[in-house]
Amino acid sequence: MSEQKAKQDTNVQQEIENNTEQKNHKDEKRKKRQESRESMKKSRETLAFMMRLAWKKKPLLFLLYAIRLIQDVFDRVWQIFLPKLLMDELQLFLSGAEVSRHLHNLSMYAVISVTVTVVNYLLRDIVDGHVRSVIREWFQEYIAVDIARQAMEMDFEHTEDPDALDALNKAQEGMGWYSGGVEGVLDQMFRVIGDILVICSGAGVVLATCPLLVPVQLAALLGFLYFNMRINRIEVHHFEKLSKDNRIFGYFFYQIAEMCYGKDIRLYNSAGMMGKRTDEQADRMFHTWQSQDRQTRSNNWAMDVINTLRDAISYFYIGYLAITHRISLGDFAMCVAAASVLYQSLFALTNGLQQVTKRCNYAHRYLEFLEYPAAMEKGSRSITPGEHTIEFADVSFRYPRAENFVLRHINLKIKSGEHLSIVGLNGAGKTTLVKLLCRLYDVTEGAILIDGVNIKEYSEEEYRRLFAVVFQDFELFAFSLKENVALSESEHADTERIAEILKLTGLSEDVEKLPEGMDTMIFKSYDEHGTELSGGQQQKTAIARALYRNAPIVILDEPTAALDPIAEYEIYRQFETLVGGKTAIYISHRLSSCRFCDRIAVFADDTIKEYGTHDELVGVEGGIYAEMFHEQAKYYTDIA
Ligand code: ADP
Repeated sequence: MSEQKAKQDTNVQQEIENNTEQKNHKDEKRKKRQESRESMKKSRETLAFMMRLAWKKKPLLFLLYAIRLIQDVFDRVWQIFLPKLLMDELQLFLSGAEVSRHLHNLSMYAVISVTVTVVNYLLRDIVDGHVRSVIREWFQEYIAVDIARQAMEMDFEHTEDPDALDALNKAQEGMGWYSGGVEGVLDQMFRVIGDILVICSGAGVVLATCPLLVPVQLAALLGFLYFNMRINRIEVHHFEKLSKDNRIFGYFFYQIAEMCYGKDIRLYNSAGMMGKRTDEQADRMFHTWQSQDRQTRSNNWAMDVINTLRDAISYFYIGYLAITHRISLGDFAMCVAAASVLYQSLFALTNGLQQVTKRCNYAHRYLEFLEYPAAMEKGSRSITPGEHTIEFADVSFRYPRAENFVLRHINLKIKSGEHLSIVGLNGAGKTTLVKLLCRLYDVTEGAILIDGVNIKEYSEEEYRRLFAVVFQDFELFAFSLKENVALSESEHADTERIAEILKLTGLSEDVEKLPEGMDTMIFKSYDEHGTELSGGQQQKTAIARALYRNAPIVILDEPTAALDPIAEYEIYRQFETLVGGKTAIYISHRLSSCRFCDRIAVFADDTIKEYGTHDELVGVEGGIYAEMFHEQAKYYTDIA
């Protein structure tokens, strides 16, 4: 009894397993169908995009493709008919026809053949070799600049988002050698059109003379399509993996090798450790390549078998028709040529179609990157001219993908023209507050209001113009010192004002010593006459940039850390004069800056712990500010 029950249980178990397997199989099929539909959709979108772009930017490309198409189709169709023409001439000649007429025909065929070959070479050299490759380069650069522009204009939040960084990398790689870029995709598409035209001609000949060849070729074609599609799917799947690995490898290989990392790598003796990490990453990529190769191999073998079978059946069939006198010798030669051209064109077509799909799918990453969803709400409201009040209304913030809040319940009002100093220990959230105010991130809870309006409602461009900010990790670029100060206004830079500002920031004497004054390039990497500025000089340049911008709200986030206390004190003094009636926010470890400010906000434990004037806070017994100030007191008395 129990044995029977056990058997029943096993059967039930078996049935459940079978059902699950069937369901998984169905799910897998559904998923593949869905993937195919998506892949087709991406191909259509990419082709439409590339055609529009090429038509708008380089319409000449279409003329080149048209010329090549005509030449290519004629060349291949001529290969089908030439053997028949020659064979028919030969047969007539052998059966005693007039020699001179046949010689004339033979010479004409020879002239056509030679002309086709010469035109072929010329077009390949001029159209394919020179003109098209110049256009290809042009598009590569256009796309590279477009991707860089999009990367620079994306919401700042994305610069730390691994998904956005992967999307950027995939866009660059997808439009690089994976797809061949705009020209690579369109080139493949026009080749497919050529193949279709040749196949129609070849199929016409075959249908008229040896019709059974058509199903043989079609069956072979379907087999081919199937296995080629599998190979493409495997390659696209591995591309996803490789793209991420390439980015990490690129970091090790290129960025770490940059000269600017040289000091830390040498002093911390870390070249060995970096090399090891690079090797590990290279191994990971090698395994991915190996896995791709393993998975595609059996599909390649299957395609070889299909080829061999198709050839064997085709030639046996044509030979049989000729031997049994069902077709003439000329038709036999034409059929053999047509079968060969048909085979090559079908192969090229299947391959070409899949290449187009594959290239379009790679290139589609670029379209996706251009449409990468914004991280923040975009408003359109204009900023009202005049004075501006800033208000943090119960603002709490947690960085994207982070668990803990770094700011909680911040309530703060900054009146127009007020100078606020923000102090607090490292990691207290001071810089984060400034980033929120500049809308590099959106608040998680609460709202920031400017003139009583939520900042999300303002037009991003107009809103950003309210601020001149110097962050601790500001960047100088490999442009001239003047351009580094004027940035977006470089073309119409007011040299006199820049000179005045450089004087105020204490840089003018250093600039006078430079070979080309304020036109000297910063960094030597791109200009041998360039200069390398010291940390202090760099900070002064960044401060000059903020002053030149002449925005109504000025923010300095510890930009003076590389300066000695006297220079720092001087900068703040000058800054006060220059900022004058504008709203200013200073973040500094050195409390000397607070002396110039109307109010001080002390940040601790993720929120504002103390708020008031210097005189009010310095007198609070046991207060954070008072304690910090007294610790640094010696320093200020020295300066004062
Ligand atoms: P402060 O300017 O007061 O030194 P920050 O505002 O720079 O402090 O940093 C506040 C906290 O937020 C720190 O714990 C820091 O690690 C964290 N933090 C800063 N930037 C990021 C970021 N991009 N992603 C996640 N956490 C961050």
